[in-house]
Amino acid sequence: MRVLLISDHADPLASPGSGFQGGQNVYVRQLAAALAGHGCTVDVATRWEAPHLPRREQIAPGAQVIRLRAGTPGPLPRDRFGEVLTDFAEGADSLYRRSGGYDVVHSHYWYSGQVALRLAQHHKVPVVHTYHSLGAARRAALAHIPRAAGPEPFSARDAAERRIARRADALVVSCPSEAHDVEHLLGAPALRTHLVPPGTDGTALQPIPQHAARDALGIPSGIPVILYLGRLEPRKGWQDLVDAFVRVHERHPRARLLVVGGGTGATADDETRPLTDLAQEHDVRSSVDLRGSVAHDKTALYYSAADVTAVPSHYEPFGLVAVESMACGTPVVATRVGGLAWTVGSPDVGALVPVRDAAALGSGLLSVLRMGRDHFHRPCLDHVAAHFTAAAWMKGILDVYRAAARERSPIDK
Ligand code: UDP
Repeated sequence: MRVLLISDHADPLASPGSGFQGGQNVYVRQLAAALAGHGCTVDVATRWEAPHLPRREQIAPGAQVIRLRAGTPGPLPRDRFGEVLTDFAEGADSLYRRSGGYDVVHSHYWYSGQVALRLAQHHKVPVVHTYHSLGAARRAALAHIPRAAGPEPFSARDAAERRIARRADALVVSCPSEAHDVEHLLGAPALRTHLVPPGTDGTALQPIPQHAARDALGIPSGIPVILYLGRLEPRKGWQDLVDAFVRVHERHPRARLLVVGGGTGATADDETRPLTDLAQEHDVRSSVDLRGSVAHDKTALYYSAADVTAVPSHYEPFGLVAVESMACGTPVVATRVGGLAWTVGSPDVGALVPVRDAAALGSGLLSVLRMGRDHFHRPCLDHVAAHFTAAAWMKGILDVYRAAARERSPIDK
């Protein structure tokens, strides 16, 4: 099967953990590699953002990223992608013609969905779409956060997301709350909405003995370690985590908050400064261990070194980090929002706490630390093996692709 993935702003080979590079990049990269491993030929179209990168680059044998010129190559904030959307769509159209066509197009995020619908119109190719986040849900969850980067283009986004819901041959959602949202906020027909949770790639994300992981990272054994791994944007709730950590620290003065993400080099200072300033204010700066962003295939070391991973998000469409942590046998304390309420839904794998409640987050962390990582280790691995394997993910995705290709009705287009 020949598959075109479209991932507008999220280059699958970009380093995640900084700016807008995170879950979507990882998801698309793993999807492309896994599909190729199942015999598909996969092209991923993304915007040519970093001019020093080649226009084509292999992701895995059988899968490549193709960077399309859209506007002047260089960084562009995600919310301004609309400025280059026409260029990007034209690039995708000419790629489609040059390539000889695809059996299915799978678009990621709402800008890409519009490009995919245009390809469907011109070439009668079936379209599968994954939202990754929904404008209406995001707006409702994040009304309290002022935006430094200016307003998000919510009305254009709402209209585009509804249009995609009506016209795509199939929607792939990652968790039940997303299925609920696409049906109730966008009016997507339940029959065309498929719940296919992403699975972790067992080769990169395997548990490492904790003492070995700590040795490798220079972290002493015997101290409580709380991990935060991810981008440092305000909606991730790291402010609540710093407040919660103060409470943990009162009880465990040797506790450490290990922070992975926020970029590397000069950009890292800009991204981490609000967090370090807050830690300084609360007198816990010396217990915060900042590591910057790390390559995705190195994250297992950090998950394995930790006693618990905190995912304090205010809005979280899915939250790959929670599943990755459990895949390494490390429990999770997460806010009861979006996908996290489902993935961390059993007390065997950690704890759920109310959103934006630092006291509850602190209590949740203390309670998981009290029970100890060993108590959760095996249940976490079993939970991932039961619900989030790469094999089940692939089977689900390929079933959706085949059905979309078979059942596509040209009348809809
Ligand atoms: N990540 C990484 N290195 C880092 C920080 C994050 O590889 O330094 C990865 C992390 O392992 C996960 C993704 O970035 O796969 C974050 O995805 P998630 O769904 O948790 O959050 P999002 O970025 O989509 O908001």
